[in-house]
Amino acid sequence: MPDKRLRSIVNLIILVAAISVAVARAAVAREPKAPGENGQLRVGAFAMDVTPTHYPVIVNGMFEERTADRDVDPLFARAFVFDDGSTRIAIAVVDSCMLPRELLDAAKTEASKHTGIPVDHMLISATHTHSAPASMGCLGSRPDPDYPAFLVPRIARVIQKANDKLQPAQVGFAKLHAPNYTYCRRYIRRSDRVFKDPFGD
Ligand SMILES: [Zn+2]
Repeated sequence: MPDKRLRSIVNLIILVAAISVAVARAAVAREPKAPGENGQLRVGAFAMDVTPTHYPVIVNGMFEERTADRDVDPLFARAFVFDDGSTRIAIAVVDSCMLPRELLDAAKTEASKHTGIPVDHMLISATHTHSAPASMGCLGSRPDPDYPAFLVPRIARVIQKANDKLQPAQVGFAKLHAPNYTYCRRYIRRSDRVFKDPFGD
């Protein structure tokens, strides 16, 4: 795996872990019940490949609709499940540009059936990659006709797998710089003038 790609994945994991711990603390703070067995926080994590298996797929997030006929890097759905002995929550993040409400509701309902975690204790987000199959229409793109139905059970499954792997938690943190992944997206075509972008900004 190229170093660049590894650093980007490590960054994402750190970000998700940090958010997850914060959300777990907030959830616990809202429900001041007795702590779990021996006051132990348990966490389970799992990652599932959600790279499409049939091509071409519609890709959204650009000004016009595009299609992809192969994968360059794998796409993943990742999940964490937290349990403090009295409250259990699930947080998932999917390599997708955007995920529509009905898809998220369907994935949560399915995951809830298998884990018993209430749907209002689940949070699912997208990494907002512009290079994944379109789960919803945006700008000039339609949703891919097949990919949303492929994705729903896999999101449910990754939450279920994370739930199955609950174990006593250890918390740590790491920090690194990744300047290669940030840049200004303003349209600058002359050193002395900034032009409007296609959105008029
Ligand atoms: Zn975007």
